[in-house]
Parts: sequence; C-alpha cells; structure tokens
Amino acid sequence: MIPAGFEYHRPADLQAAIALLTTHGDEARVVAGGHSLIPMMKLRMAEVRHLVDLQAIEALKGVTIGSDSVTLGAMTTQYELISNADLAAKLPILREAALQIADPQVRYMGTVGGNVANGDPGNDMPGLMQCLNATYTVEGPDGPRQIAARDFYESAYFTARSDEEILTGISIPLPAAGHGYAYEKQKRKIGDYATAACAVIVGGGAASVAMTNLADTPIWSAEAGQALAAGDVDGAVAAALAAIDPQEDMRGPVAFKRHVAGVVIRRAMTRALERAKG
Ligand SMILES: Cc1cc2nc3c(=O)[nH]c(=O)nc-3n(C[C@H](O)[C@H](O)[C@H](O)COP(=O)(O)OP(=O)(O)OC[C@H]3O[C@@H](n4cnc5c(N)ncnc54)[C@H](O)[C@@H]3O)c2cc1C
Repeated sequence: MIPAGFEYHRPADLQAAIALLTTHGDEARVVAGGHSLIPMMKLRMAEVRHLVDLQAIEALKGVTIGSDSVTLGAMTTQYELISNADLAAKLPILREAALQIADPQVRYMGTVGGNVANGDPGNDMPGLMQCLNATYTVEGPDGPRQIAARDFYESAYFTARSDEEILTGISIPLPAAGHGYAYEKQKRKIGDYATAACAVIVGGGAASVAMTNLADTPIWSAEAGQALAAGDVDGAVAAALAAIDPQEDMRGPVAFKRHVAGVVIRRAMTRALERAKG
C-alpha cells in the first residue's frame, strides 16, 4: 500500500517543530521512528498532510542517569534501551521489556517517545512507565508541562497530550536498590503485540503492578501493588484481574484473555519477588 500524498518537514529544533504543528493544526503529525505511524498511513488509517520528522532534533536524544532518576529523551530508540549497559544496571526492567518488542529491525528505529505517545493499548512501554511511576514532559506553544504516565492515557489513541504538543522526555524515579522486577509478555508469535503483558517492581517495602493490552488503556493497579507488598500473591493477582477489561479480538475471546492474563501476572509477580534482594 502507498500512503496518500504529504508534505515532508525536517525541522532542526524543537521550536520549529512546534511552530509547524501550530501552523498546520490537525493536518500535521510528528514522525519519530515511523514504525507505528507509517504503517497506519500506508493502510490509509491515518491521513497526514504535513509530516514533521523529529530525527534532526538533537535535544530529543540521549539518556541521562542521575542519582535518583533516569531521563530518556523522546527519540531514544528501543535498541538504545537494550544496549545501554549503565541503564540496564540501574533499571533492568527497561531492557527486559524492550527486548520483547517486535524484532531488531523495528527496535533500531522505534523510539520510546513514539511508543508512549502513540496511545496504542498494545504498546509495551506505556504500562511499563505506569509501573515505574514515570513522568512525561510535553512541550507546545505555551511551553513545557509534566504529565504523570498514570494520568496520560484516556482511551485507545487518546491521551492528555494536545495536538500541538511534542513529548520531549520521560523521567523515571529509580526504584529501591536491590529491587525485584519482571516484564512478562504472552504473544502469539515472535514480533507480535501482547495478548497480555504485566510489569512488576518490588522493593523498599512497596510494589507496583501494571498491565498491557488488557483494556483500552494500560492499567496500573494500586490494590495489586499493596497486596504484593504485603506478600499476598494470590490477593495481588485477584486485584490485578479485577482491574482489567479485555475485549474480544483476533487475539482471542475475553475468557481466554483473562486466563492468559492470570498466568502472565502471576509469573511476573513471582519472578519479581525471586529477584528482589531484601
Ligand atoms: C511489525 C511490528 C511489530 C511491532 N510490535 C510491537 C510490540 O510488540 N510492542 C510494542 O510496544 N510496539 C510494537 N510495534 C510498534 C513499535 O514499537 C513502534 O516503533 C512504536 O510503537 C512507535 O514508535 P515510533 O518511534 O516508531 O513512532 P512513530 O510511528 O513515528 O509515531 C507513532 C505515533 O506517536 C506520535 N509521536 C511519535 N513521537 C512523538 C513525540 N515525541 N511527541 C508526540 N507524539 C509523538 C506520532 O505522531 C504517531 O502518532 C511494532 C511495530 C511493527 C511495525
């Protein structure tokens, strides 16, 4: 398939990109790695008159590891999340989850900013970011503002970001030293989106649990985290299952998805507890 005609823009800085979005309104979209947007354009499910490429904007790239948080530039690729050894040492769940996205070809191009901004419930990074209690920075004509990942997703493909805002970075507070972690994902075949996936962090007397592709947004369950922190795995699984709302689609009927979710959630919790050092 060939997309409808569009005008291609390659601004050199963020302000120029924001100006293009402001000028062209809902006829303009940014493209990052292009591995969600370009297929949608080729299928004619998205028609974009003005494509604003973020690749030349250096300020959107890079990983900063601080003493208590990590900041990812929006244009950081999924490959960079996997290959950065310092990042993997501080936040190994990022590498574990990124390795389960698609295939190397997609991961070389796909960006963390595109993955979380897209609003596709099948994307793996939004649930992970909710589990990690990340904060997104978006910037538009009125300047930058911060939105918690847990408040960002409204429904499938609808988020708290407005059309003329660009997601510039993601800030993640570092979990307690020695924390346990797991990202468990069940998919039909290599390279597929999740039938069900679950991210878990445990440590420092707390736990956090979030699920992917089990509702029209990622789901973070405070109740599941509280039960897991108290050592009640059965209660935590039950609370997580009570929070999801899977729909029937090509990955199966609701009863099957609930079954798979139960397996994946329990595995993630068990593995995170096994990995926790104190
Ligand atoms: C075969 C295949 C399998 C895949 N499997 C998986 C999978 O298992 N799990 C998974 O998570 N993903 C999967 N993906 C999607 C892939 O990870 C995408 O690369 C990712 O979802 C989007 O990142 P991108 O940089 O390519 O964004 P793009 O495709 O460039 O953009 C996606 C959307 O986000 C918007 N956007 C991008 N960057 C920004 C920004 N900085 N600010 C504001 N809006 C922005 C765009 O306007 C667009 O609407 C798969 C893709 C393919 C082609």
